[in-house]
Amino acid sequence: MSDRGYILVGRDGAEALAGLDEALVREGYAVRCVNDGTTLLSYVASQSPDLVVVDESIQEMAPLEIVRHVRHRVGSRDVPVVLMSSQKQGDDAALALRTGVSDYIRKPFELTEVLARVASHVERGRLMREARREADTRGIVLDIVRDVTASLSSEEIFDILVRRVSRLFQIRRCSMILVDEGAEHGTVVAAHDDPSISALSLDLRRYPEIRQAVETGAPVLVKNLRGSALFEQIRPLWETENINVDIQSVLAIPFNFDKGRNGVFFLRSSSEEPALDEESVRLTSAIAQGAVRALNRAAMFESVLSHQEQLEILAKTDELTGCLSRRYLNERLENELERAARYKRLLGLVMFDIDDFKRLNDTHGHTTGDAALRSIGEVLQRSLRTADFVGRYGGDEFLLVLPETSANGTFQLAERIRNGISRREFDLRAGTMRLTVSGGVVGYPEAGVVTAEDLIDRADQALYRAKAAGRNRVFCYQPETHGMHVE
Ligand code: GH3
Ligand code: MG
Repeated sequence: MSDRGYILVGRDGAEALAGLDEALVREGYAVRCVNDGTTLLSYVASQSPDLVVVDESIQEMAPLEIVRHVRHRVGSRDVPVVLMSSQKQGDDAALALRTGVSDYIRKPFELTEVLARVASHVERGRLMREARREADTRGIVLDIVRDVTASLSSEEIFDILVRRVSRLFQIRRCSMILVDEGAEHGTVVAAHDDPSISALSLDLRRYPEIRQAVETGAPVLVKNLRGSALFEQIRPLWETENINVDIQSVLAIPFNFDKGRNGVFFLRSSSEEPALDEESVRLTSAIAQGAVRALNRAAMFESVLSHQEQLEILAKTDELTGCLSRRYLNERLENELERAARYKRLLGLVMFDIDDFKRLNDTHGHTTGDAALRSIGEVLQRSLRTADFVGRYGGDEFLLVLPETSANGTFQLAERIRNGISRREFDLRAGTMRLTVSGGVVGYPEAGVVTAEDLIDRADQALYRAKAAGRNRVFCYQPETHGMHVE
């Protein structure tokens, strides 16, 4: 494809645009002309053009309908669209601009002016896509880094990293290797294709890419293993030992942590998997860099505290979701309740439970179920203020504790969270999906509530009613009077 850019032109017959296509070709653009809207949209989807020019003469679809389609598809929403029209009334241009065209050019046009406009739209479109790509990258990296930051165990951090990164690139082979300076062997500390591997020793003479990454401190990307000079010396070995290497591309990203220890993030893709490329280098390097802080913290934690002390701290968080564990949650809730009772303060409690979670597990498997739990845990953690806390109370139940908050305030927050969850698309292993939660709210003080258990029990009753009323809703606790509900 041309360096200047690829332009898709929709018009019925060359004369419609009075030689614009040829002029664009002369300017150095790659140009493809089609005469109907359906073909145009299918090319927009499959060929990511840098600019789309739509003339009013296009067949099958109205120009503005085409614009709407381009704007609404996630993959093409940043592609600039220029509309060409011979309409004389001003309203037409205003409507087109509101619909999302980047430019509206009246015919007959001045060729040099149109070419200048085209150049500027192509450039702006590129900047826009670049910016969006960067933002997406940052989002992905932040997400993974956030995941590992909750962990205080380096073993767990390595494990999360290989799992998340192999999922990100859809490759099976992703591992973490530790290498001592000048050593001939490395140690596999986590491997996605075989989670049970730990402390497996690797003979680095067979892995020149890992050795080179450690020696140079720079990423090593080999896009095609068979043609690469780096593997020249060990290739004969594969043959004599009859090893069938189905690896196509390899990536080794070195990083340092814990004052001078060397780690290598090691990714390999087979010929059936997506090839690793410069984009993978960028993302993986950013993830490794982001994880280093968490690794340093974990290393410090591991060196300072005894095994027993580490276990105690880890027992405070729920392994899957990073929320507080049930045990620790109870402990904190009891403290808060005691404080509220002593100083006559308010305390709000919400019990959330995912709707139809069993079905999600049954349809998509437990791993997807786990991913859903993690996502919900993340949403809840993010929606809290500093004094609030959230724990995983049981299977798919989460408990939010809001000190200094009335029942009404708690209800409003719970409603906001519920609504936010129901509007989101969650990106889980099995694809994107919708989730809903139901919630039960209770506020302290409340007649008859003395212990943390009393409070939880009432939140649970409200939750039960929310489920019975059809799910995806939040109910406040209402004491039952003579077997009737007070609404
Ligand atoms: P409801 O709308 O009434 O809440 O229906 P539900 O299907 O969500 O029912 P319930 O809350 O009773 O089901 C909880 C399910 O959560 C049962 C169990 O299979 C599943 N579960 C519990 N812990 C885990 C876990 O750690 N991971 C996964 N994937 N599933 C879990
Ligand atoms: Mg449930």
